Amino acid sequence: MCQTNPNATPTYKGQSVFIVEPKGLEGFEALRIEGKMGSRLAPTAELSFNDVRVPLEALLGEEGRGFYQTLAMLNRTRILKSAARALGLAQCAIERAIKYAKERVVFGRKVADFQAIQHKIADVIVKIEAAKLLTYRAAYAVDTGKDERTLGFLSSIAKYYASHAALEAVNEALQIFGGYGYIAEYDVERYYREARLLTITEGTSEIQKNLIARTVLEI
Ligand SMILES: Cc1cc2nc3c(=O)[nH]c(=O)nc-3n(C[C@H](O)[C@H](O)[C@H](O)COP(=O)(O)OP(=O)(O)OC[C@H]3O[C@@H](n4cnc5c(N)ncnc54)[C@H](O)[C@@H]3O)c2cc1C
Repeated sequence: MCQTNPNATPTYKGQSVFIVEPKGLEGFEALRIEGKMGSRLAPTAELSFNDVRVPLEALLGEEGRGFYQTLAMLNRTRILKSAARALGLAQCAIERAIKYAKERVVFGRKVADFQAIQHKIADVIVKIEAAKLLTYRAAYAVDTGKDERTLGFLSSIAKYYASHAALEAVNEALQIFGGYGYIAEYDVERYYREARLLTITEGTSEIQKNLIARTVLEI
């Protein structure tokens, strides 16, 4: 996305989106960002475009509508790429923890027999089920063609809630694994690191709460 009208006020009304093939593009540079806590499967890079010339056919959508197009994209990706992803991670973490708790024996009892552990599992399951409904509701709103304001509201709620449910799920799953949970050999250590990104990417939780509050306050 770039500023195609430098005189637009506010500036976001003068932004447009272009789609370009970066390979061999003069003025384009990608600097790989190293040392990520998680999400290592997908490389992250800083992309810079200096005096890059693009043909008019590279315009994606409408001139001057780039900001709105990007918001509309986020209204959908916050459901699919954030909330649904958080849900999958939370579900996976608690399933692993449940399996482990049923197998591991300490002081002559299975870990799953301790009520303190059962309550952790119950708390996480409740949040996963709630996150699932919020995610499905937001996805249903997209499928049934609801307006962007409604989609923004519902996707922010789903993203915010599901990402925090995932944080709690991985935290409790790691706790149920005890010391092994902290060891990379067991997947929950990785789930814990993966979950940490969810409340940051595609708009932090603080931003989601701003969006939710602004909608109900109509500001
Ligand atoms: C590995 C990785 C992958 C990513 N992938 C994606 C991706 O696929 N899609 C995508 O959209 N983004 C992605 N991001 C970017 C991510 O969305 C941003 O990092 C995030 O939006 C926060 O922006 P920032 O880092 O500039 O933090 P800042 O904006 O500098 O925020 C710093 C702190 O201030 C708070 N803050 C900022 N503004 C406000 C405000 N108005 N009110 C209250 N609190 C505020 C923030 O919540 C945060 O706690 C990725 C980031 C990383 C690290």
